[in-house]
Amino acid sequence: MRILIVDDEPAMHDSYIRSFARQRSEDAATLDAMAADLFGDDAPAEDAPAIDFRLTHCHQGLDAVGEVERAIGGSEPFAVAFIDVRMPPGIDGRETAKRIRALDPEINIVIVTGYSDFSPIEISKVAGPADKIFYIAKPFEVAEIQQTATALGRRWEVDRELAAARATLAAQVVQLQEQSAELAANESRAMHLATHDSLTDAPNRLAFQRALGGRAKSPGLFATAMIDLDRFKLVNDTLGHLAGDALIRAVCVILHEAAPEGATIARLGGDEFGILFDTPGEDAAVMACDRVLAACSTSIPVFGHLVQGGASAGIVVIEGGDACDPGDALRRSDLALNAAKQAGKGVTRLFDESMDESIRFRRRIENGLSDAIGKGELSLVYQPIVGRDAFDLVGFEALVRWNTAEYGPISPATFIPIAEESNLIHELGDWVLARALEQVAGWPGQYVSVNFSPRQFRRPNFVGHIMQAVMAAGVAPTRVQIEITETAIFDDAERAAETLYKLRQMGFRIALDDFGTGYSSLYNIRKFALDCLKIDRSFIDGMGRERESAAIVHSIIHLGRALGLGVIAEGVETAAQVQALRLAGASHLQGYFIARPVADDIAREMAAVGHLGGEEDQPATALLDGTNG
Ligand code: C2E
Ligand code: CA
Ligand code: CA
Repeated sequence: MRILIVDDEPAMHDSYIRSFARQRSEDAATLDAMAADLFGDDAPAEDAPAIDFRLTHCHQGLDAVGEVERAIGGSEPFAVAFIDVRMPPGIDGRETAKRIRALDPEINIVIVTGYSDFSPIEISKVAGPADKIFYIAKPFEVAEIQQTATALGRRWEVDRELAAARATLAAQVVQLQEQSAELAANESRAMHLATHDSLTDAPNRLAFQRALGGRAKSPGLFATAMIDLDRFKLVNDTLGHLAGDALIRAVCVILHEAAPEGATIARLGGDEFGILFDTPGEDAAVMACDRVLAACSTSIPVFGHLVQGGASAGIVVIEGGDACDPGDALRRSDLALNAAKQAGKGVTRLFDESMDESIRFRRRIENGLSDAIGKGELSLVYQPIVGRDAFDLVGFEALVRWNTAEYGPISPATFIPIAEESNLIHELGDWVLARALEQVAGWPGQYVSVNFSPRQFRRPNFVGHIMQAVMAAGVAPTRVQIEITETAIFDDAERAAETLYKLRQMGFRIALDDFGTGYSSLYNIRKFALDCLKIDRSFIDGMGRERESAAIVHSIIHLGRALGLGVIAEGVETAAQVQALRLAGASHLQGYFIARPVADDIAREMAAVGHLGGEEDQPATALLDGTNG
């Protein structure tokens, strides 16, 4: 341990040297003697060994300041400095102490003075703190110096250990603070991930629900809008998923630009967005929504392609407050969106109560339908399809009927679309096909024409499935006509063309149903393997009244024949229509004038006769009473 002695008198330095030298030998001697007395030869090692002091001698204050400076910079600072007060010609003890203190806050300073011209307070003021300044009067006792040095030396050591411990602690505190900052950052990152959509970085459904929940609590009108992109599936299917993603991001940017100020815009999933905003009323909200849709309806560049953007919106405006149910807002805007999509593309629909009513009705239908097969509520009727001239019976269209215990008969036009939206259509379709195949086996040679909805047609391994059914029934594929609509094949034309080709290879007949109501041009249907077109009955119905309908019927028949296809006119209700269709060249006819759909036993009788041609211009059904249609 280092001790600094500052005194201008050389003799004083000798006294110091003697003090410390004596202390060492004396200490050792007394302690050894005491230990031997107390413990005999087994005396334990002393627990506080005498300190090994090393003295540095300075004769002038400035030298001492220099020594302290060096010591501080090095690894071994001084523990104690003994400083004389008067040291001419240099700076006095007070100034020396002051400068040393400025350099080393830890050092213990002992002022050694023979005069009383400095008050301790005065020196403490410049070289404090008071607990590190001590005074010894000259002339001093040797023991006094040694005792002071030992006591202060120990204290200095303890202080240093404490300081080191404190520094370690402080470092640990800093580390802990850093860790907790990092944890907080991680937490907020996790929060962000949990509440934001990774593709657009917009708030996600969860965040939207929270925002909605928050807004619902405070009073005032607000709008909840749901936006769904039109034709998004088409972009995904034709340009790929990356293009779909790019489109979603682009639309998200457009929504941010076009939405009312302060709106919350969230990606709810897929191609669906939610917008939440305050509004003065329903008209204003619908207008705001229309503006958003207008902004979306633009050409959007996606990977070098220009994609025509477009969206539909459902919106509901409700009053915030205690009675407000945010879940209801979501549900209602969703219903309104459904209505918007059904109404066509690119429109905004405001929620109204009837939407809720229709959804309840759909639920009931859905539930009832799932039990209908088991309860035996379904049946099939068969409507004849005849050659145009002699009314020879070439086949029957199988049409499903549902007679419910609860509501009486429900039209397939009502329940088929509902089944189509759920997986029920598959079970129902399987049942229809199996029943139809059973019937056709009992007819001499006619085919049965079975309707397949788009979803059935797009079912994985549709071909294998239907092949299995005919094999199980022991019916030749040539006795089965598959009726599909344009929607089924034009959504994914390539796959559909392949499916149709395979079916035709196996011998199935293919009819394109409701022809003329979809988007396909006659030119486009060339690539599909078809047997015939069924002209939608709306055109047959309009033929006598509108020039356009008559023209459409004519051109369908013409072009169908040019492509080598049969043309069945559906919905033939009058003798005049029969005449006109014969003239136009339709190959086959179907409709109430020829026959209503009939029950299976009557169909079997008709099939056995083989034709319905009674008298010329005589409605064939006049022969049959009690038909079902
Ligand atoms: P669709 O395939 O166009 O069937 C023809 C519809 O027109 C039938 O109605 C039929 O009863 C009706 N109809 C026939 N002749 C005339 C006529 O001269 N005048 C009038 N006004 N109507 C006539 P239905 O049986 O109510 O079927 C409606 C639709 O339900 C069908 O239209 C078809 O799309 C669907 N559907 C019926 N049965 C099935 C089925 O088993 N499976 C599938 N997927 N859909 C079916
Ligand atoms: Ca049909
Ligand atoms: Ca049809």
